[in-house]
Amino acid sequence: MRIKKDLHFHTNMSDGSNSPYDMFMTYFKKNYNVLSVTDHGCIDAIPIMSQLCAQHNIKFINGIEISTDDYPNMHILGYSFDETSPALLDLIKTIKHNRRVFLKKAMKILSLHKIDAEHFWALEKDESIEFLYENNVPSDFLYNCEKPSAMQAIEVINESGGVAVLAHPSKLGFSIYTLRNILKKLKTYGLKGLECYHPSQQGKEDKYVRLSREFDLIVTGGSDSHSIDLHNYTEHYQIEIIF
Ligand SMILES: [Zn+2]
Ligand SMILES: [Zn+2]
Repeated sequence: MRIKKDLHFHTNMSDGSNSPYDMFMTYFKKNYNVLSVTDHGCIDAIPIMSQLCAQHNIKFINGIEISTDDYPNMHILGYSFDETSPALLDLIKTIKHNRRVFLKKAMKILSLHKIDAEHFWALEKDESIEFLYENNVPSDFLYNCEKPSAMQAIEVINESGGVAVLAHPSKLGFSIYTLRNILKKLKTYGLKGLECYHPSQQGKEDKYVRLSREFDLIVTGGSDSHSIDLHNYTEHYQIEIIF
């Protein structure tokens, strides 16, 4: 039997557009067998998703995606952790607090410059920076949301009994040489896996699988879907995920 898996998607509990229920139903109708919801800095979708998966005989793995301040786009995925771990709950609380502080500051700047906030937040990051630049508004504040370091994110995931995975390595924009050095460093912090299958890595998956073998890392993958219009990546790719 073909096992359909998606170990990376988001709901409206973070920056996704749809509820955990609607996301679940979409995967269920498409006959997925293994799911992991990985909202940004948030585990609020886990209880309902886990309950729905249990009711419909779908394997569920709990997950989270943590943005770190080491490099832009260095995101660490955590899987299969203890959801009651004080270290994890503390980190989530800090992430949420920092996000609130950032949004407050951002709203102030937008209103000061009479920028329509709804339009602004609908822009992609690159577009929003360009938009601010064109409107003579400094864009520095977009980078100023305090984030945990990759080391902290990995250590907390390990402390909570979970598996830490480097998300979408291609988005870091590094050469293999640099990426290898980064993986070496992240391994010393306790990194256990590499997201080899991701839409941004289409056609280059083998390269990342080879890297994960070299560093003895688990191979994971997912569509990074943010809405019920699932990214067709997982539909058309037989995603091999050793997990
Ligand atoms: Zn990400
Ligand atoms: Zn994601």
